[in-house]
Amino acid sequence: MSQSVCILGVTGSIGQSTLKILQQHPEKYSVFAVTAHSRILELVEICKQYRPKIVVVPANKVAELQQQFQKQDLNHIEILIGEAGLIAVAEHPDVDVVMAAIVGAAGLLPTLAAVKAGKRVLLANKEALVMSGDLMMQAALDYNAQLLPVDSEHNAIFQCLPDGYFQAERNGQPKQGVSRILLTASGGPFLNHSLEQLQNVTPAQACKHPNWSMGQKISVDSATLMNKGLELIEACHLFAISEQFVTVVVHPQSIIHSMVQYVDGSTLAQMGNPDMCTPIAHALAWPERIQTHVPALDLFMNHQLDFQEPDTTRFPALKLARQAMQSGGLAPAILNAANEVAVAAFLNQAIAFTEIPQVVEQTLNQVENSAAESIELILQADRVARSIAQQIVINNGS
Ligand code: NDP
Ligand code: MG
Repeated sequence: MSQSVCILGVTGSIGQSTLKILQQHPEKYSVFAVTAHSRILELVEICKQYRPKIVVVPANKVAELQQQFQKQDLNHIEILIGEAGLIAVAEHPDVDVVMAAIVGAAGLLPTLAAVKAGKRVLLANKEALVMSGDLMMQAALDYNAQLLPVDSEHNAIFQCLPDGYFQAERNGQPKQGVSRILLTASGGPFLNHSLEQLQNVTPAQACKHPNWSMGQKISVDSATLMNKGLELIEACHLFAISEQFVTVVVHPQSIIHSMVQYVDGSTLAQMGNPDMCTPIAHALAWPERIQTHVPALDLFMNHQLDFQEPDTTRFPALKLARQAMQSGGLAPAILNAANEVAVAAFLNQAIAFTEIPQVVEQTLNQVENSAAESIELILQADRVARSIAQQIVINNGS
């Protein structure tokens, strides 16, 4: 029987890579629902090719979409609207697999809805897990959801962990012979820039990643190393491991996608060409394997593997994220919200690249932390942190 797939964020980089895999395996998967936010023409093209039953767009895009559907004879496709629509498709009874590929906090409620509906959830939207950590993981257990990591590092770690690791106790200690997780980082486009050079980098330069082609927000996060900070928090939650057991390793070639070390001295690594289609295909088909177009690694071509420690003086975002994880409670949600505001401000050229971590740090200092007891509290912290970060951006600019 073919699996019915819902892609949250289909017009994005991960959404497109997901379609590529589904297209290669039409007998295994069908596209049931897709969602978009601003790229309506791209969405219409996707609808022409994949014929989903339902699409979701924000209220201000409905008229444009209806017009396009009329023109293209796609009126049979149901249109749902806004956050309620995103949640409805994520938990829809006819959906087996949800690809959570909306960027940022906007993906939290739909991703959580998919988890609570007991779906197989392919998690790309790391911000959702960073914000809601324990609640999301507990919901996955309570509702029997399969929360599978798509982020390449976490997918690599997942592949290197022993079978059954997820059924084990979630107490922050590594178990089943695991001693440490090595989370690899490419270091981004400015790995060798001085602090002075970093002050003047442009959004276009920040979005040009050396190894990966990704959406704008995660590209900037990769350049500040906040992406690695978010991933550190993501790893702690996914693998129920305290942050002191996760070491970040800069590996500029992005051939090793992360590693797991064991008490007997073994280090297992997952390697491959840097293409998100591999982790997406892995999470989709797990525990089976399916074909992708990604060529196998040619070790005679890619023979250089370098490793170094991250420099948290030039890239303080990583340190801030680690501290937020240590503080716990709402701190990761506050960090994430402030970072989203700061990255948007940098992309709009309202602040300098080096001000991104400053905005995050100042926001963390100004918003009170408390236990992340409910989604409402988390969303409230998100709102408060956004408005304070926005104010800091405005003050910095004046
Ligand atoms: P993109 O910016 O390319 O795509 C984001 C998607 O989310 C688009 O479909 C966009 O719609 C939609 N979207 C944006 N804002 C909203 C909103 N407010 N409400 C609903 N939908 C919205 O991002 P990526 O595909 O690069 O990344 C998606 C997620 O996956 C991120 O969390 C990222 O960190 C994670 N990830 C990405 C990787 C990559 O290689 N790209 C690797 C690992 C993780 P539209 O385009 O129509 O505006
Ligand atoms: Mg990653």
